[in-house]
Amino acid sequence: MIIVLKQGTAQREIDSLTARITAMGDITVTPIIGTDLTILGLVGDTTRVDENQIESQHCVERIMHVAEPFKKANRMFHPVNTTVRVGGSVIGGEALTVIAGPCSVESEEQIVGIAKAVKAAGATLLRGGAFKPRTSPYSFQGLKYEGLELLQAARRETGLPVVSELMSPMDIDVFMDKVDVIQVGARNMQNFDLLRQLGRIDKPILLKRGLSATIEEWLMSAEYILSEGNPNVILCERGIRTFETYTRNTVDLGAIPAVKRLSHLPVLVDPSHGTGKAWMVEPMARAAIAIGADGIMVEVHNDPAHALCDGQQSIKPEVFSEVMKDLRAIAGVIGRSV
Ligand code: PEP
Ligand code: MN
Repeated sequence: MIIVLKQGTAQREIDSLTARITAMGDITVTPIIGTDLTILGLVGDTTRVDENQIESQHCVERIMHVAEPFKKANRMFHPVNTTVRVGGSVIGGEALTVIAGPCSVESEEQIVGIAKAVKAAGATLLRGGAFKPRTSPYSFQGLKYEGLELLQAARRETGLPVVSELMSPMDIDVFMDKVDVIQVGARNMQNFDLLRQLGRIDKPILLKRGLSATIEEWLMSAEYILSEGNPNVILCERGIRTFETYTRNTVDLGAIPAVKRLSHLPVLVDPSHGTGKAWMVEPMARAAIAIGADGIMVEVHNDPAHALCDGQQSIKPEVFSEVMKDLRAIAGVIGRSV
């Protein structure tokens, strides 16, 4: 971080600002005094520097960033890719991760049937929402605790680890017990209390990108979890809001190489919420893998026309099998496996 001081700043002001900054953390402040300008170079742990406080000092002209504000999520300080172990599989390793299943758990027959179908096609994890964050309070809100029980039944039947969305910190204990990966949905990406609490457990967290979150905001949310001690964070690009209305969201595929460069965390793509259209899932899934994502999360339903949630973007098990064939072919080209 670089602080540019106003012209004519007195030495005692420089000294008092330096003292103030060094009191904020393990930081070395190096002043460079020119004829017109004085700048302070800050190196060390600048995460605890309160920028607004510094900027409000009348001797400060402006602040410039040299490094990203996230430390634990930053590849600079952790060059090796993070891998997250779930059941028998590894997320972020050489093998791609494929999370498949319905938007929401609807019945035992539905979830067990879909689990068997996606497992047979090669999925590595089963998804299924029990608590659904719906825009309307009158829409189906999920089977809640009963849904978690049904996911367990599907796990028993197939051996697939399960992923489900947690909305309230009050349910963390139940999720610790019943699911293998806790999903934080787009709408909760900046629920900082929730993130902090999820940082105090060791269960893998699938952190979806917020509806209008920048890449930096998304990584700062990951930082909330990592900074509390949970290293098992998996990112998921699920499309962002843009001016385009043809698709439900705009899948930011460019975010994948960007995140891979900035961070060591595994990153998946959700082409279902990303497009909102079942027929676009297959091409977007192919693109996601080709561009370097560690896998996909896709909504699969046996009867999309009667799904209680997100039927329009859910593919049938037969189509999912085709997607898996595509992914195997592309994985071979880029030196990965499924
Ligand atoms: C979901 O995965 O079903 C979901 C609600 O996703 P998002 O939070 O990305 O909208
Ligand atoms: Mn959904």
